[in-house]
Amino acid sequence: MSVRILIVEDEEKLARFVELELLHEGYEVSKSGNGREALEMALREDFDLILLDIMLPGLNGLEVLRRLQKDKPVPCILLTARDAVMDKVAGLDGGAVDYITKPFAIEELLARIRVALKLHGQGSLQPSAGHNQEEGVLTWGALTLNPQSRVVRYGGQEVLLTNREFTMLRVLLENQNVVLTRDILLEKVCGYDYVGETNVVDVYIRFLRSKIDEAFGVKMIRTVRGVGYVIQNEK
Ligand code: CA
Repeated sequence: MSVRILIVEDEEKLARFVELELLHEGYEVSKSGNGREALEMALREDFDLILLDIMLPGLNGLEVLRRLQKDKPVPCILLTARDAVMDKVAGLDGGAVDYITKPFAIEELLARIRVALKLHGQGSLQPSAGHNQEEGVLTWGALTLNPQSRVVRYGGQEVLLTNREFTMLRVLLENQNVVLTRDILLEKVCGYDYVGETNVVDVYIRFLRSKIDEAFGVKMIRTVRGVGYVIQNEK
C-alpha cells in the first residue's frame, strides 16, 4: 500500500517541483493551491501526511491545521516563510508535527517526511518502553524522544524543551533503571568544566517534571533520596 501525501502550496512551480520529487520517491501525491479546497480533500480522502503552506488563498494553513486537528488529525509538516517565527510557534502549538523553512533543500524535506511518517504514520504510536534500535528513538510509555530531529512527544503532542532539558531527558532515557547521581547529570548536561551550583540539576528536573509528569499526569522521573534521579522502565 503506497503512502499518500497531499501538497498544499499555491506557488505552482514549487508545488510541481516537490510533487515530482515525491513521485520519484514512490509516494502517491495529490496537490492543491487553495486552503479551502485542500481542507475538503483532506477530510474526504485519507492522506498519510500533508505538506502545508501557511500563506494560502481560500483559507490559511494555520486555519486548515486547526480544523483538521478538530475533525480528522493528519500529520502536517508546515512550509513556512523565513523569519515567520510566530507561524512556526502557532503551527507547532496547533498540532503540526514539524515545519521546514522555505527555501529548503529537497533532501531535507524528504528526510523530514520520512521521520514524520515513521513517528506519526498509521500505527506508529505503540506505547512501549526502552530502545527502538533502528532509529535511535528513545521511548517511555507514550513518550518518544528522537535524538536526530530533537523532537519530544507525549502521545501525539509535542513537548517543547530547552537544549539542557532535552539533554537531561535523553541521558535519563538512555539509562533507564540506572540511578544517575547529580554529579553525573551535571557533567552530561552542563559539561565537565561547568563551574557553578550543582542544584542546577534539580532545577532542570523540576522543569522536566512540570512539562511532562505534571502536564500528562504521569510519574516518570523518580527521586532517589540522597543519590539522584532515575527513569524506571515500567515493563
Ligand atoms: Ca503561499
